[in-house]
Amino acid sequence: MRMREKKAVDDIRQQALIRAEQLSRDALSYMREAEAVETGLTTYERAKVRKQQILDYLGGSLQDWDDWRWQLRNRIKDAGVLADILGMGEVEKKRVEKVGKLFRWAISPYYLSLVPDDYHNNPIFRQAVPDIRELDEGGSLDPMNEALTSPAPCVTRRYPDRLIINVTNQCAMFCRHCQRRRNIGEKDRHAKSSDIAEAIAYVAENREIRDVLITGGDALLLSDQHLEWILGELHRIPHVEIKRIGTRTPVTLPQRVTPELCEVLRRYPPIYINTQFNHPLEVTPEARDACSRLADAGVVLGNQAVLLKGINDSPTVMRKLNHELLRIRVRPYYIFHAKDVRGTRHWQTSICTGLSIMESLRGHTSGLAVPTYILNAPGGYGKIPVMPNYILDMQEDVVTLRTWEGRVFEVYNQPPSNEEEFLPDQDEMTG
Ligand SMILES: *Cc1c(COP(=O)(O)O)cnc(C)c1O
Repeated sequence: MRMREKKAVDDIRQQALIRAEQLSRDALSYMREAEAVETGLTTYERAKVRKQQILDYLGGSLQDWDDWRWQLRNRIKDAGVLADILGMGEVEKKRVEKVGKLFRWAISPYYLSLVPDDYHNNPIFRQAVPDIRELDEGGSLDPMNEALTSPAPCVTRRYPDRLIINVTNQCAMFCRHCQRRRNIGEKDRHAKSSDIAEAIAYVAENREIRDVLITGGDALLLSDQHLEWILGELHRIPHVEIKRIGTRTPVTLPQRVTPELCEVLRRYPPIYINTQFNHPLEVTPEARDACSRLADAGVVLGNQAVLLKGINDSPTVMRKLNHELLRIRVRPYYIFHAKDVRGTRHWQTSICTGLSIMESLRGHTSGLAVPTYILNAPGGYGKIPVMPNYILDMQEDVVTLRTWEGRVFEVYNQPPSNEEEFLPDQDEMTG
């Protein structure tokens, strides 16, 4: 190579190295902060101690622990029991009792085992245990007007080609931020089979419905048999192209994801499951294995996090959560802005907070780790994607854009037309 060419190549490499150095600094500053965020994998030993303590208290065996029906039967829903297990004081216990009179609570022994001794600001504890701030009377019980979007029993239809079938009001854990708490009565109640049959008939009669979402409550709290009946019925409707299931069991009751359940799911492809991990502490070995069994059964897994003040309203926590999810084959799908549901105001963040989290993700990390931030339109008119502005100006000829780092570019709107050059000329046409 001639000297001058070699120098040019070296210069280019030198520039690339400078740029790479700049990019490394961006990643490393995140990594330093993320190190301090615990996950369900790093706290596993601590959870094992709590698990044994809960088993001793409830008089259960290790086999019992792995049995989801045992987990359900033994959900902790008594303030005295909770206070005993966590070592809560009298005042705190009384508060749980007081809030519990208004809003139902129950915690699977598994989910409770993730609560550490120093629990006050712990994301697991806060999502599970009633908080005195739930007594705030602001907000509405049905801000989405769901009652007005039900053309058939159990059905919520808000979109042209897809709908929800609510099959149960039951959950393994009643989240303190629940956006459907008006449905969570004092009693566990699966929908009547005759009502579900009517919902399925509605789907069958409306050939534009190509996507059916089975949810609740938590759809996976149905028995395998009941679920298989619903999936089988939907599977036989030719225009139902995909089936979806909404469940938080991979997070709150991973024992539910049995090999038998996975065999049922495997028989009715394609099935998409969206779950709800809100914090890296929820990504435990048990949750990872449950997701692995589902993915191996051909289920496509997505996550719908809820943006919650004090839990995941930080760019570092949200980025780490999404990275941990991708490692267990769960694709971040949505981040929901918390609605103004009564008793959940203390969870709400500003929209600006959500936007700055989205800004901190895009470009800085894999596109796979960037979900869509969603605001629900009041009155149940659908989900609105909310994004930082990357389009700075839009003219008929020129669009001004910015990159994730804020570099501004102008690009043309319409591609310049040079079609005339390629039109056959008159000579060719006649010749
Ligand atoms: C969220 C929702 C869906 C699914 O919406 P996608 O954006 O397709 O995930 C369907 N029906 C109702 C009523 C919903 O609220």
